[in-house]
Amino acid sequence: MAQVISEWEVRAAASSGFLMVPEGALVTPLAREVARDLGIKLGSRPRVERRKFVFGNWKMNLSLDAAVWLLQSLAGAPELRSCRAGIGVFPSYPYLVLAKALLEGSCIGLGAQDLHQEKEGAFTGEVSGSMLESLCQYVLVGHSERRRYRDETSDLVWKKAKVALAHGLTAVVCVGESARDREGNRTSVVLREQLAGVSAAVASGEAQRLIVAYEPIWAIGTGRRAGRSEIELAHGQIRGLLRSALGDVGDEIPILYGGSVQPDSCAELAASVSIDGFLVGGASLDEDSFVGIAMAFRETNG
Ligand code: PEP
Repeated sequence: MAQVISEWEVRAAASSGFLMVPEGALVTPLAREVARDLGIKLGSRPRVERRKFVFGNWKMNLSLDAAVWLLQSLAGAPELRSCRAGIGVFPSYPYLVLAKALLEGSCIGLGAQDLHQEKEGAFTGEVSGSMLESLCQYVLVGHSERRRYRDETSDLVWKKAKVALAHGLTAVVCVGESARDREGNRTSVVLREQLAGVSAAVASGEAQRLIVAYEPIWAIGTGRRAGRSEIELAHGQIRGLLRSALGDVGDEIPILYGGSVQPDSCAELAASVSIDGFLVGGASLDEDSFVGIAMAFRETNG
């Protein structure tokens, strides 16, 4: 008699986001539905290991002197060389040229905090993809602070992501629900709306340069980090949406968590196969904290 995979086995695989289904096994319709809802892949081959990242979003912080000091300290930090995650810092625009020079030869990548959706022209104060492409590898788009203070819509966010990808940058697209959405059980609706533009924005071959950062707004800068199971549930939903939009390549897109990440809390999160790294705000302004967070992915962690 064929082995039957029930919804309970699928639920038990929620933290790994993957359930191996042996050849010939039968998956019940309910189990398939649960797998779809929780973003759990049912596959007959082992899951691919995704790339890990630890990024520091400096926002509008640090004097020039403090930024130089932090860049030099991070560039010289021996611990970061033994980290299996890609490390990146995202200073303000005026520091990018200097940051590029100071990080030369280090293992630290450089990112910008935003870009404009147009190629060039009369857009005072804005920065284009072509200006960034020779300076950075990464660019954030759709950070909740830009959605909130600059009224950026998901439509605009994906336009920006499209431009970033076309310029050879890795787009780090931020998504996440507000406290009110979470209390109203609308997290999955919000994530669906925020990710609806992914298939139109990402051309074939570009998904390798897409990273999603799940940043629940209620956890950003509040000291109220989301719990591991809350993060895994949201990452599962995001994974399911990426997979339905992009097919198998949707499995390879790293999903980072951001929101009050501190060194003492991240080793537990880094152990989850559905958490591919961190986008760090406040704690990235301090060398010891940022290095401590990156160490959750130290080589010896396996
Ligand atoms: C952020 O703004 O992207 C962020 C995660 O901030 P914090 O780590 O300070 O919550």
